[in-house]
Amino acid sequence: MKLSGVFWICLFFPFMQYAQETEYNHVIFDNSLMEESWFYGETSYSSPSHILNIQGRLPVNTDVAFTPGNSLQLNYSSAPEGSWKVNLKYPEWRGKDFLLKGDLLSFWLYVSDENQKDKLPEIAIGLDEEEISNYIPIGEYISDYSAKKWIQVKLPLGDFIESEEYANSNNIKVISIKQSPNDVGKNEILIDQVEIINEEISVVELEAPELKSAEGFERHVDLSWDLEDTEATRYVKIYRSDDNENFTAVGVQSPDEFSRYVDYTGIPGKTYYYKLSSLGYDYSESPLTESTEVSTREMSDEELLDMVQEASFRYYWEGAEIHSGLALENIPGRKNMIATGASGFGIMAMIVGVERGFITKEEFISRMEKIIGFVENGDRFHGALPHFMDGPTGKVEAFFGKYDDGADLVETSFFMQGLLTAEQYLSEDDLEENNLRDRISAIWKEVEWDWFKQHEDSPYLYWHWSPEHKWHINHKLIGWNETMITYFLAIASPSHGISPKMYYSGWASQDTIAQNYRSDWGQTSKGSMYTNNTSYFGIPLEVGVGVGGPLFFTHYSFLGLDPIKMEDKYTNYFDTNRDIVSINYRYSLENPGNFEGYGKNSWGLTASDGPWGYKAREAKVEMDDGTIAPTGAIASFPYTPEKSMDALKHFYREYGSFLWGEYGFRDAFNLSEDWTADIFMGLNQAPMVVMIENHRSGLIWDLFMKNENVQEALQEIKKVEE
Ligand code: CA
Repeated sequence: MKLSGVFWICLFFPFMQYAQETEYNHVIFDNSLMEESWFYGETSYSSPSHILNIQGRLPVNTDVAFTPGNSLQLNYSSAPEGSWKVNLKYPEWRGKDFLLKGDLLSFWLYVSDENQKDKLPEIAIGLDEEEISNYIPIGEYISDYSAKKWIQVKLPLGDFIESEEYANSNNIKVISIKQSPNDVGKNEILIDQVEIINEEISVVELEAPELKSAEGFERHVDLSWDLEDTEATRYVKIYRSDDNENFTAVGVQSPDEFSRYVDYTGIPGKTYYYKLSSLGYDYSESPLTESTEVSTREMSDEELLDMVQEASFRYYWEGAEIHSGLALENIPGRKNMIATGASGFGIMAMIVGVERGFITKEEFISRMEKIIGFVENGDRFHGALPHFMDGPTGKVEAFFGKYDDGADLVETSFFMQGLLTAEQYLSEDDLEENNLRDRISAIWKEVEWDWFKQHEDSPYLYWHWSPEHKWHINHKLIGWNETMITYFLAIASPSHGISPKMYYSGWASQDTIAQNYRSDWGQTSKGSMYTNNTSYFGIPLEVGVGVGGPLFFTHYSFLGLDPIKMEDKYTNYFDTNRDIVSINYRYSLENPGNFEGYGKNSWGLTASDGPWGYKAREAKVEMDDGTIAPTGAIASFPYTPEKSMDALKHFYREYGSFLWGEYGFRDAFNLSEDWTADIFMGLNQAPMVVMIENHRSGLIWDLFMKNENVQEALQEIKKVEE
């Protein structure tokens, strides 16, 4: 079905320009990253019935699984006067919105009781927790019922309900399971691999993957492979052994998400053996590969830093959008959608990649050729780039709503920060590098920063402009936030510069409009000025909103712009950023929200994915939901090197089993909710690479600050009188 769908498009629209987004399998559950409970499995019951739960969530079984490493455990007692129910919710995240359509609900069932078939629970599909279809008995759909083995249960979606909304299987976001009216007493069943599939699947005889690399680190092994037939492969299955004789399946990987697998064993200095196989869409298995020996090893602090830098760098290197070589918003996520700001951060991470030996300079140059060629031909509006672009076409993608279909000046400034750094890095006097520098310089000069004043005597820059909707969004840029770099580069521009006075009239404005703009962010005793002059957790803060805001305010503008050198009449920005980080740290120690896992080695409130979606978090109770993002502490390395190193080690050594993945640390975790992000985010991985490097060698700061326009802007801002 999957193959024929693609084929149909090719036949009828041979000149179609827009490539179809990759459609993800519609998986409600395959494995839980957390080993205790599954965040998306919500239980409820009324006595005397009961279903075993951990804080209202289904327990995870790591001993018996259909797809390794785990399954969901339904341990219940049913009574006629009571009831129990569990809702399995589809885990959503940004950009996971293209799904393969299906006609069957499929899951794998493991029962221990030979005579349980007629008493098995009932199941329903739902659009959300409120809108659930009719329930149908699971037992009626099993022909080969037997205990103590995995049985596939397939229920035609048409048997549930006939309605327009359900006709599109992509709308199915909840699978609900409840007590059968025939059931009395205690039972336990396991459920695994809950998904919407197609009745017709092409069954192909698969080859085993070809192992490309196997590397041991302190507490994990990193395996990568090449696949013969990615389209027909449902999963790559990973087996591990301690003795090269007895192999246990430890995990599966979706080939449309990664061609790499991290096996976190938690033990340094140990030898393992690995084999791989491919699973088809019917879950038939290919032969296994030969075994490969890999050992974990003790690692020094320097080696741990290399490890975090390299894994996070890969997000931009091997995880890039294929047509442009630029960064995706998150992985897994939309595969065609380029995120402009994250791409600028990624360029800086790639420069670190060359200097740390992850790639060669030639490889970097060839990637930059691709990137610059793409930008030259892609959508720009008065020289400014959009927030998101479609990789295959280079067109703006209004992912955040129809009005955001033009320029995004803030994303442009993040991107230009990276591009100007690359211009300095490509310093050889040869044909190739001269050419790249010229083209970067042209892109830089084409950005009409002054256009974004909206009108000639405006004290502010504006965030967006679109050819169709003009200034409709009408969002002024006012600090303190992540937009200092936008004002800074606008002042630095040699072709379309703004007056350095706008640093104070716009970014650092103290006027009423600016105060009103900031008022939601936190008030000091003096209102909501740019200057702060308040102490938080014993630390005086000179500028900033409230407690200083989410930690990314101290990262995004300062990946290239050296905060040690950045001063205005109010403060030095290394000092201010260090103070903001210290406030954030002390808040996590004090932990007024009483969240699990906060402490001296585990802190860092910033913007990230979370149990309830993407959100900016700060060092105050109303802006804290218990979610910590590793990038918060780790991208703060220059400001708090010891505390950041402690956090890095703690995240890797204590939380690595769920937090360490294919591109380094997963985006965020929330121990109070037993939740970890499934994704890595483009805005959060590179700041770790770059800021660790700025701490280690000052590399990216030195390169960016070499730019003459940058040096002039620094001086001009200092010279501005009130
Ligand atoms: Ca599983």
